[in-house]
Amino acid sequence: MRSITGCLALSLLSVIQPVCASAGTVNFVYLSPSDKAYREDYNSAIETAVSDLTGWLAANLDGHRLNTSEVVWRQTENPAAYYRGDGSDPADQYQFWNYVLQDAFETTGGRFYDPENVWIYYIDADPNPGQTVGGGAGVALMPANELRGLAGEPLVPIDPGDSTDNTGFDRGVGVLGHELGHALGLPHPPGSPGGVFDYSLMYYGYLNFPNTYLRDVEKEHLLASGFFSDPAPVPLPLSGWMLSAGLLSLFWLRRPVGPSVRKLAHVSMKRIHVSNSEC
Ligand SMILES: [Zn+2]
Repeated sequence: MRSITGCLALSLLSVIQPVCASAGTVNFVYLSPSDKAYREDYNSAIETAVSDLTGWLAANLDGHRLNTSEVVWRQTENPAAYYRGDGSDPADQYQFWNYVLQDAFETTGGRFYDPENVWIYYIDADPNPGQTVGGGAGVALMPANELRGLAGEPLVPIDPGDSTDNTGFDRGVGVLGHELGHALGLPHPPGSPGGVFDYSLMYYGYLNFPNTYLRDVEKEHLLASGFFSDPAPVPLPLSGWMLSAGLLSLFWLRRPVGPSVRKLAHVSMKRIHVSNSEC
């Protein structure tokens, strides 16, 4: 399994990157290369991971909800091996990143730094050792081991010494949250590794998801990103509704029927009229 240093180089920035505020949507896409079949278990695992992450974010952001799309599936134009290449590309470290995103953008309309859309791509393809995956610039790319991890399968070793042990669903959700953070402009925390924030979500904390946290400055950045909605209004508890209904019925029972009621209605209509004219 990749280490924290395997995170996308774009994410290794020392400052939080600005994201334009607007009513943005985070789009989740499951990509199958041309030689891989669609898998319902992968698709539903992504859906559950998104749901879990959205709930965790809301709990850590005072009820603000991440704006998400339904998980979309697309078959790409090329087989899985095409994306990692044969090592002949001078930019081999970024070949997987570049080749996958080229096809992914073409089939979904995605792009970097889109103020209205963040794109999270899962692809059923493995990179070569050392090739970049992760998040940054409004995009995240999750390779096949993330799908296997979410689906409870053994992993495929990529780098020397990698284990085939499945690392668990929650860790997969933590990885998703970490890379989404990078896609939304969050860097690794200052001082890590060895700093006081090592176990925040944006460093080793993804290993312990959901038992991790966001720093205050990260929360402020996420809430200003335009990709979160305000908390839903809190409904009155049942007892509150019953009390309100009871008081209302008492009020109407005590009101005289006659001109005063018509007068009240007139005032209300007038207020509506004034209010409309002000719009
Ligand atoms: Zn990272």
